[in-house]
Amino acid sequence: MGQDRNNPQIKATAETNPSNLGLYIHIPFCEKKCFYCDFYSIENHSQRDEFVASLIKEVALYSESNPKQTVDTIFLGGGTPSLLSPSELEKIIEAIGHHFIIVSDPEFTIECNPGTVNTNNLSSYRTLGANRLSFGVQSFFDDDLKFLSRIHNSHDAVAAIEEARHAGFQNINIDLMYALPAQTTERVLSNLETGVALNPNHISAYALIVEPGTPLFSAVSKGELNPAEDNTEAAMYETVMEFMKAKGYDHYEISNYSAPGFQCKHNLKYWNGYNYIGFGPSAHSHMNNRRWWNVSSLNGYLSRLGNNVLPVSAEEVLSPSQVQDEFIFLSLRQGKLDLSVLISRFGIALEEDFVTGLKKSGYCTIAGNKLLLTTKGFTVCDEIAGEILGVHSVSV
Ligand code: SF4
Repeated sequence: MGQDRNNPQIKATAETNPSNLGLYIHIPFCEKKCFYCDFYSIENHSQRDEFVASLIKEVALYSESNPKQTVDTIFLGGGTPSLLSPSELEKIIEAIGHHFIIVSDPEFTIECNPGTVNTNNLSSYRTLGANRLSFGVQSFFDDDLKFLSRIHNSHDAVAAIEEARHAGFQNINIDLMYALPAQTTERVLSNLETGVALNPNHISAYALIVEPGTPLFSAVSKGELNPAEDNTEAAMYETVMEFMKAKGYDHYEISNYSAPGFQCKHNLKYWNGYNYIGFGPSAHSHMNNRRWWNVSSLNGYLSRLGNNVLPVSAEEVLSPSQVQDEFIFLSLRQGKLDLSVLISRFGIALEEDFVTGLKKSGYCTIAGNKLLLTTKGFTVCDEIAGEILGVHSVSV
């Protein structure tokens, strides 16, 4: 990679260059499947060697027809990237460095399960050039972690973050979850207090979603578990937003909060409709309004690459109306809709009565040409987007 690997530079800036690519690498292994998770990952690690070799082949095959593209964000996600050995990760990063041009100060994130990190692998991540870690903490209550079938406990989570600081990481995210069944607001606040006390640069706080196909989904379907009521979830969400704001974090996306200058540049590529390439089973890519995604099966992935074929499952070309709808939806999820861009790029304006109604109900304010969601507005962000897409915009 084009950087001093032993001295990765962190630029605490939210800028991301739309003409550079983001790279996502999906590592499809987990020690144990969490019962709420619908990401593609498997517990059987017997084909790890083949996976690493195939991933390197995928990068090379893609690059044959797209040589030397410039990359400014790298995100190793999964699954559990921290389950791979430092030498396996090194092979992957070397292949990326060989086939892509990496800017001198990329944002390079590795997702870590707090139950799988130690001083050795953390310092090897620094050596590889990683400068951002994202820890799937979810809760600091051991009974919540057991309920979620996580492999770590609260002590592991705190120790992992402290070790990461010790290893020199200056850009750390922690994921937290709220709206667990029977969870109280006091517990949500306690998790936030403990999390913020660890001084992370970024917190992602997600409501637990009951995803079809998961064991959680079948437990809820059978009536064995009651998910949080919608109004409880909304009240918890408002609590999270107010707490994070009071602690000085910028609420820059529906579930994401950053210390000033520490927004996740890689995720901003997804949310701003920029270009990114995903490698690994189930990884998604987007390039100039064309989207494609890989097969969600390790065997399918290995067999296609064994035949020197890219493991793409399907693709779609976004229609102009899809591009417009995504712009509205993704802008609002970032709390702001640029009304002048809406007119200049898509030729539509919002109905005045509709905007006045939103303001009167306390869902938004208007600053210059921008509609800005309030805390209350964020709780109904998708509904507002739906209404705009449905009836409350006019062609100009
Ligand atoms: S560790 Fe993460 S990716 Fe793996 S099963 Fe749990 S939630 Fe899913």
